[in-house]
Amino acid sequence: ALVVGRRVRSRRKWKRVVGVLKEMEESCETTVGRLKQVVDAMAVEMHAGLASEGGSKLKMLLTFVDNLPSGSEKGIFYALDLGGTNFRVLRVELGGQRSDLDPDVEQQPIPEQLMTGRSEDLFDFIASSLYQFVEKNDSVQSPITKLLGFTFSFPVKQTSVLSGVLIKWTKGFAIRDMVEKEVAGALQQALTRKGLNMRVSVLVNDTVGTLALGHYHDADTVAAVIIGTGTNACYWERTDAIIKCQGLLTTSGGMVVNMEWGNFWSSHLPRTSYDIELDAESPNPNDQGFEKMISGMYLGDIVRRVILRMSEESDVFGPVSSRLYLPFTLRTPLMAAMHEDDSPELTQVARILKDVLDIPDIPLKARKLVVKICDVVTRRAARLAAAGIVGILKKIGRDRSGGITGGRSRSDIKMRRTAVAVEGSLYTQYTMFREYLHEALNEILGEDIARHVVVIVTEDGSGTGAALLAASHSSENVNNIQ
Ligand code: BGC
Ligand code: MG
Repeated sequence: ALVVGRRVRSRRKWKRVVGVLKEMEESCETTVGRLKQVVDAMAVEMHAGLASEGGSKLKMLLTFVDNLPSGSEKGIFYALDLGGTNFRVLRVELGGQRSDLDPDVEQQPIPEQLMTGRSEDLFDFIASSLYQFVEKNDSVQSPITKLLGFTFSFPVKQTSVLSGVLIKWTKGFAIRDMVEKEVAGALQQALTRKGLNMRVSVLVNDTVGTLALGHYHDADTVAAVIIGTGTNACYWERTDAIIKCQGLLTTSGGMVVNMEWGNFWSSHLPRTSYDIELDAESPNPNDQGFEKMISGMYLGDIVRRVILRMSEESDVFGPVSSRLYLPFTLRTPLMAAMHEDDSPELTQVARILKDVLDIPDIPLKARKLVVKICDVVTRRAARLAAAGIVGILKKIGRDRSGGITGGRSRSDIKMRRTAVAVEGSLYTQYTMFREYLHEALNEILGEDIARHVVVIVTEDGSGTGAALLAASHSSENVNNIQ
């Protein structure tokens, strides 16, 4: 009787866990109908953000990048790419013709204590790495000033292509003395302290670098999206549509706009209690709402929260592991590894649960549950990112064919080929994420239109693109002087 009683109890508990899963699945629901509402909301917010300063949670920041690399750039250029997790130094030689750029690249993780310390320490550290890198490749003593493109993956209010102040930190960075300070200036001072004859000649967001490289390879590229530690997008906009900046004139008639879509918000977003808790406990509550549902910094932590909840409500994961209470213990790459475990016994899942979360020896049924949680979280993220992309296409009129006219069916009229450059570890390293994103693009746009939308993956685009922009803006400077 005792054994039977236990079995009944455990079945009841299992039922509770399934209930938690079901509830979570329902609140993560992303039907095509709902995604289309997100598309519309994105396009509406873009308009609002362009209409007036503070008109939307979407900042729609001016970049002052008013031409994109064409291929005719020449010379040796450097770039420094400060992202959310790593930083990269690059050197690229441009021969005046479009080619497969093959930059020298070195990458290092950003030491965690530098992300929350003093800005001088961070920039001195970066300047030292850059110094060593230059020393290896060129002469540091050379009297010729080397030009550097600086990719800075945080929101900046720019006043020109090479100056601007940090609006706020995102993604776990919290160097207080940097907020509202000149970003390129801080780097330039560190380079000077180090005695490095190098000039920061452009300051760009990582999305803008990615767009630049995307456009260099494929002139149909109109937008760029990053889905890595954080998420964001930029696109090419006509200056007359940037209403908040009347009288803005560029020779090209356009300018790249950094949307900062990580901060997008809409009541149509499928939000769960886990998202609400994650946001409340984050260092930046009420900020970056879209980013917190999509990007690599957060996905693993949403999964951790769901497992914690299930563990508290039942014993399917054994006694509640104290590690489950620690924010960010489950990193997204490990979540991806569990999600993509294709061994019949789910041995990867078992190993990661044991090593990372201290949850040993759980039955296969519970391991399958974990895979399912990862699937729900990633699918929602990828589909929302897809909706964001279509939102941009809608704003610039590239979400449909050229208009429906007498008698001809929609599919007869050719839609213009449109390329979107995408970068970031979620898209490039997480197959399921990528597949869900493409599936959603097809569902939202319909196959006939989606066929004309190409996603191009640029490797090291955010950095290489900054070097290209340093190049295109350097020749411009020369022309201005002459
Ligand atoms: C930042 C953006 C950046 C994105 C991707 C976000 O957290 O606010 O500026 O482009 O991350 O790195
Ligand atoms: Mg990056």
